Amino acid sequence: MQADKARNALLIDLDGVIYQSEHLLDGALETLEWIGRKKIPHLYVTNTTSRSCAALLDKFQTLGFSATLKDLVTPAVAAAQWLQSRQLHKVALFVPEVTQADFGDIESVSLDREATVDAVVIGDLGEAWDYRLLNRAFRFLMQDPQPALIALGMTRYWRDQNGLRLDVAPFIKALEHAASCEALVLGKPAAAFFESSLAKLQCDAEQAFMIGDDIVGDIDAAQNCGIRGIQVRTGKFREADLDGPIKPYALLDSFADLPSWWRQAVDRTP
Ligand SMILES: [Mg+2]
Repeated sequence: MQADKARNALLIDLDGVIYQSEHLLDGALETLEWIGRKKIPHLYVTNTTSRSCAALLDKFQTLGFSATLKDLVTPAVAAAQWLQSRQLHKVALFVPEVTQADFGDIESVSLDREATVDAVVIGDLGEAWDYRLLNRAFRFLMQDPQPALIALGMTRYWRDQNGLRLDVAPFIKALEHAASCEALVLGKPAAAFFESSLAKLQCDAEQAFMIGDDIVGDIDAAQNCGIRGIQVRTGKFREADLDGPIKPYALLDSFADLPSWWRQAVDRTP
């Protein structure tokens, strides 16, 4: 999707904006149809590592909308590109099995044995995390020379049907602390992730809006790159999020309110 110079573009977070776990949020489909009719250049920018890109596209179909691989930016795809560009082929992948497909030809070592690796990649393993697994990642990182530590996003937590859940960031922080290293973040809130999204849309930061439910990972991170952040009051949003120093460019009750807000604030039609 290409944006001409005068055109505004949209980066859209998925979970907490369009859907909540497996359920579409009210009015989301109508807004997506409106985006399509209006031909607003857009990308789905997600930190999801619990599904491959192909599985995400299948999920979209099930929920009633469609997209293609080029409309999707995920940390796994960014990480695979980064590893390949640096010829790092031997990797310890701490990611859900389904996401491993997005790493293509990169060799993933068995996590049960000692092995020399070029990089340790950490995604959201959810309930699969335990002491043994976290310690395994730590031991890979203590090799000499130290492998690169790659974080698939740096989201602190998210919300499913049962409530808030730890995401990738707390596990990365533990590993950084224990192994005295700093992770390379490929995903939100890393500036590089937003910059590659803008490059993909061929638009400047000032032309773009990021709509998301995470005041830190979506709004603050985008606004630090010069992209205007639109906070929705769905997903993980809590009213207390607005008490801090981060001021979203706009605040909407939900994604369903985007068209009417856009008419007033962007198109400036009465
Ligand atoms: Mg979200």
